[in-house]
Amino acid sequence: MTNRQEQAVAAIDVGGTNIIGGLIDRDGKILFKTQKGTQASMGGERVLGNIISVADRLVKVAEADSIAVSRMGIATAGQVDPNTGTITYATDNIPGWTGVAVKDTLERSTGLTVFVENDALAAGWGEKVFGVAESAQDFVIITLGTGVGGAVFVKGRLLPGSTGLAGLIGHMSIVPEGVPCNCGGRGCLEAYVSGPAIAKAAKDAIRDKPEGLLAELASASSGEITAKDVFDTAKYGDPIAMSIVMRTAKYLGTGIGSIVTLLNPELVIIGGGVSKAGSLLLGPTIESAEAHCSPAAFSGVTVGLSKFLDDCGLMGAAAIAYTCGIPRI
Ligand SMILES: [Zn+2]
Repeated sequence: MTNRQEQAVAAIDVGGTNIIGGLIDRDGKILFKTQKGTQASMGGERVLGNIISVADRLVKVAEADSIAVSRMGIATAGQVDPNTGTITYATDNIPGWTGVAVKDTLERSTGLTVFVENDALAAGWGEKVFGVAESAQDFVIITLGTGVGGAVFVKGRLLPGSTGLAGLIGHMSIVPEGVPCNCGGRGCLEAYVSGPAIAKAAKDAIRDKPEGLLAELASASSGEITAKDVFDTAKYGDPIAMSIVMRTAKYLGTGIGSIVTLLNPELVIIGGGVSKAGSLLLGPTIESAEAHCSPAAFSGVTVGLSKFLDDCGLMGAAAIAYTCGIPRI
């Protein structure tokens, strides 16, 4: 406990698996962090209840530690009306999330002023406010997790598109007639480079040739492996894991190459849980991006990792609270 009066914002990142909450100061330092299961399959009302529970904890900790908090940012999966803070569309990853009035409900329950944005858009803004895009004007973020999100910033402002949907990078088709995607399309980037897509590709490869570290790990856990297992064993040179890393980098780089050719950004940021793979994934991704990009556009771009990796949604939520939303073009 401290008597020091400290300015911070409350931030909440609502993902498909976990709700992460934090108190973050003006320098982007996380003063306190907590988390709770999203329980997405139990529906929108349960998810909203879990967000309220995380928000209450943040308010109580702030009070106990005499941290002055007046604003809260919420970054969530799904499409958000940033003015009303209502979910305008969400996939069945969170059934019943569409239509939920997140801002109104949380303002009533906490007494704070609440700002709500889509998690990928918030993550991009978090890099501008606190992270690697601080001095960048034209940049793109790609978030790799359970899903693949994105956001495009032009002259330091978010490019919303005609109906607010610009930046749906995960659903750019990169393989014509490719594997089916959750969105109903085929060959989307998300179907190749999301965490579940990486794990599935690894499982398929092991089924064909059950040899090596990753295959041993899989058989010790009844065939269940994660993207993290793939990157962990690739670090030890496991051939199957390495081939999956190279495959992921090839597809991710193909998507990035097209984005750079189209938009001529100065910076492309890779964030989300999968980005914790670090240079193992980044190196071959940059090579693939260069091979799938206009040489002139590629010569001016830096492709790098998020400062916050899997905390990029949380830091995005903090950023939107500090700046009262994301400035749009
Ligand atoms: Zn898709």
